Amino acid sequence: MLTNPYTWLNKSLTTIHQANWYRSVKAIASLPGAVVELSGKSVVNFASNDYLGLAGDSRLIQAAVDATQAYGTGSTGSRLLSGHKELHRELEIAIASLKQTEDALVFSSGYLANLGTVAALVRQRDLILGDQYNHSSLKKGAILSGATAIDYNHNDVADLRQKLEINRSLYRRCLITTDGVFSMDGDLCPLPELMAIADEFECMLLVDEAHGTGVLGNSGAGCVEHFNTGKELIQIGTLSKALGSLGGYVAGSAVLIDFLRNRAASWIYTTALSPADTAAAIAAIEIVQQEPDRRKQLWQNISYLKHQLSGLKLLPSESPILCMALDTPAAALNKAQQLMDAGIFAPAIRPPTVPTSRIRLSLMATHERSHLDTLIENLY
Ligand SMILES: *Cc1c(COP(=O)(O)O)cnc(C)c1O
Repeated sequence: MLTNPYTWLNKSLTTIHQANWYRSVKAIASLPGAVVELSGKSVVNFASNDYLGLAGDSRLIQAAVDATQAYGTGSTGSRLLSGHKELHRELEIAIASLKQTEDALVFSSGYLANLGTVAALVRQRDLILGDQYNHSSLKKGAILSGATAIDYNHNDVADLRQKLEINRSLYRRCLITTDGVFSMDGDLCPLPELMAIADEFECMLLVDEAHGTGVLGNSGAGCVEHFNTGKELIQIGTLSKALGSLGGYVAGSAVLIDFLRNRAASWIYTTALSPADTAAAIAAIEIVQQEPDRRKQLWQNISYLKHQLSGLKLLPSESPILCMALDTPAAALNKAQQLMDAGIFAPAIRPPTVPTSRIRLSLMATHERSHLDTLIENLY
């Protein structure tokens, strides 16, 4: 008797439903911003990564329109073939200037930047030590690389040290990977300690600045600037969060970037970033550098909300990401629904994305005091 080879999909989905792990998409039907239209309803948006409110900024939109008119909708090829434009180089120079690195390389997404970089830097004879809460793209990059990948406990430098003491000498190269701002928790990595340990054990260090860029540091360069460590390391990030566009990047030494242009498969064998996304990101970096008040407003919103919510069970955070812990996935879903009924979009984040359920709030510079007050009222 033959069985249908796809039947398992239904069973698997049933299991996902039963665990309250099922997810589906919701369409936003307006420009991005502090207030958006969701399923026909106007809601205050605490679910966006658009920290500086740039994704709907008229200057980014205009830059994207102009670039589309000048260069078309698609890049038509990979960077090494027909896809490369001066615009891409301009963006890479802007990123390197923001990050104060020798050079930068733009990928089609942050996910691809992590996959390609990790897989290019280490191989079978090498070791990766990654924070257990690292973003999916770092974890998948580790698998793709073929290196031995070991997780260390979240932000636990003693655990990292112990694992290096046991394993480091058995491998050729070693790469330590960490999120700068942890995306589902909002806390920061202990960068100075990680740098010291990387030095001591001759390891490369990669920091994912997806949620730090535009947000942390005096000039908005990110977590690395915030800690002001001033040593060689590999910075990865995305153009799709505070920079309001789409795409990813690596910033670092000229030799690192030259190497990646020759070895990162997820850069070599994929189509170059579209002209619109590229131009929008260039405009965003200019705004990050020229309008520090946006960042100040964001941090004012963060400290106001943190102060007002001090009576709740919040996870430790030093970023625009604030999480309220809940005991079960069902409780998190109920709370998210209750907020939605009150006109507040703040998603429940559950296993398997995170070990414990929570409501995740992300703040924007463009949230007004009244938006925050509505949220506060409904969280208590
Ligand atoms: C969002 C995110 C990425 C992926 O970036 P995309 O450009 O959206 O693919 C990578 N790392 C972290 C920590 C992220 O939060």
